[in-house]
Amino acid sequence: MSRRSPRVLRGLYASRRSRSTSLADGPGFLYAYVDYGHRWKIGMAKNFARRKREWDKECPSSNRRWMPPIVVQSRRRSESLAHLLLEFWSADRPRLYCPHCRRRHVEVFEFPENRRFAWRNIVHPLLVRAARA
Ligand SMILES: [Zn+2]
Repeated sequence: MSRRSPRVLRGLYASRRSRSTSLADGPGFLYAYVDYGHRWKIGMAKNFARRKREWDKECPSSNRRWMPPIVVQSRRRSESLAHLLLEFWSADRPRLYCPHCRRRHVEVFEFPENRRFAWRNIVHPLLVRAARA
């Protein structure tokens, strides 16, 4: 499945944003890494250092760049809003088998722009927006 329509995404964003924070939610981090310079994976973690170690062990890639994590008050809510914003603005949301670990990762977004530009002008601002929404 690739990107859903802008109308659907706007609706999902509005309804999720109006929902209150669940009891299972809490502070943590939004994290982002890039494989091959344009394939962005965004997730959340309570403990970023541990999550990063798990990724690098379970899905090792020599072509991966980790971006600085963002501190958030409600990690689940922020992640879910961030995924919708990224899906809205990305070129694609591919569903591919990972060449590193052969699993199928979800919530991966393609941004054809170069990594630094995409981080500074697209991905980072969207993560901040999700964290404050
Ligand atoms: Zn993988």
